[in-house]
Amino acid sequence: MLKDTIAAISTPLGEGGISVIRVSGDQSIPLVERVFRSKTKLSEALTHTVHYGYIVEPASSERLEEVLVTVMKAPRSFTTEDVVEVSCHGGIVSVKKVLDLLLQQRIRLAEPGEFTKRAFLNGRIDLTQAEAVIDLIRAKSDRAFKVALKQVEGNLSKQIKLLRHQLVELMAHVEVNIDYPEHDVEEMTNAFIRTKCEAVTGEIDRLLHTAQQGKILREGIETAIVGKPNVGKSSLLNELAQENRAIVTDIPGTTRDVIEEFVNVGGIPLKLLDTAGIRETTDIVEQIGVERSKTALAEADLILLVLNSSEELQLDEVVLMQQLANKQTIVILNKIDLERKLDIDQVYSYFAKERVVELSLLENKGIEDLEKAIAAIFFEGKLEAGDLTYVSNVRHISLLKQAKKSLEDALEANEQYVPIDMIQIDIRAAWEQLGEIIGDSVGESLIDQIFTQFCLGK
Ligand code: GDP
Repeated sequence: MLKDTIAAISTPLGEGGISVIRVSGDQSIPLVERVFRSKTKLSEALTHTVHYGYIVEPASSERLEEVLVTVMKAPRSFTTEDVVEVSCHGGIVSVKKVLDLLLQQRIRLAEPGEFTKRAFLNGRIDLTQAEAVIDLIRAKSDRAFKVALKQVEGNLSKQIKLLRHQLVELMAHVEVNIDYPEHDVEEMTNAFIRTKCEAVTGEIDRLLHTAQQGKILREGIETAIVGKPNVGKSSLLNELAQENRAIVTDIPGTTRDVIEEFVNVGGIPLKLLDTAGIRETTDIVEQIGVERSKTALAEADLILLVLNSSEELQLDEVVLMQQLANKQTIVILNKIDLERKLDIDQVYSYFAKERVVELSLLENKGIEDLEKAIAAIFFEGKLEAGDLTYVSNVRHISLLKQAKKSLEDALEANEQYVPIDMIQIDIRAAWEQLGEIIGDSVGESLIDQIFTQFCLGK
């Protein structure tokens, strides 16, 4: 099957400066050459060179498109196969014509993710690296992008391989003991199993600990902005959205199209809930009470409660503070440019000082404090210092948990002096579960399932 030559449009469909068609497979160069006219013959081109010319309908010699063709020969390409990239003028019509012509040359249309899948099957990248390619495409903040890039480079794989290496050493040691079961060796082995299993379990714990942060970086912190009318919610929204390019996505298939808006606060992606609600409520509707805000409140990981520091607290605001006191809340005292009338001690009776941020959205003051407060809640203040390995993939998390469980079983058996060939079974299981993360010994159906999440042409 890998012998097929595949092609797909690798740039987003729609209008753009250029569109790129990627072709991969050991016949990609001669097959593209059939429809390409240029000064140089493609089959004689050196690797990693670009050639100007025309895509031509071979039968009629009709010129379809003016293109640049890039040749990347095996194994120095994304898939490790011969890859040819055809850059066409932007515009769906011309690029579709070129693709159709290529598909008449014994080239078939690639499945979603098939280029990356080939890179994996040909051994250029492992499964965590392939999966990170999806994250790279979907990254919604610089930091999420950097984390994904590290994973593409093999950061997580290296750590998993290191752990597996330790388990192999352990298994080898235990194996010797099974073959030569003298008593004193056995005691040493018990101690050795304990130290090694504990060390590896500790490392797995550390990786699992990054999972929550990884999820946040991938998906954003679900955030609700609440407060009475006129306190400055829309101003906050606009401030966050304009400083940091907001990404708005429509999710079809819901009764009312829900608008999800992503904003970046100091590298932390916030997924703002029900921003439509905030924007619509300019009249004196009781914002706090409306049903939609209630749902947003229930769903949110983080609540930004906006208060107007130039007015006294209202009863319903006090009620809201009571309700929010044990949720992840940051209180924003807005309008500090005006004279303060709000009793700040009353706010401090519900929220710790580091959860209360004073702002003036009018004068653009205090936004960094808000960033710091968010980082303090979700990243224990250590966002900047992180080593950029965050486990965030559900499959990885589940396998890490399984491996941890296997090692805990091994440890327990070890304490009870169960025969060590039985303990070896658990250690081996952990080794295999870690292996599955990087794609050692995974079945074909899982591989298919992973790669279908990709977009076409990647
Ligand atoms: P919302 O109803 O909660 O969305 O509040 P808005 O964002 O629409 O703000 C209500 C009014 O307060 C607007 O006239 C804003 O210009 C004003 N406002 C917002 N932030 C500040 C601030 O920090 N200081 C002052 N003096 N006015 C502000």
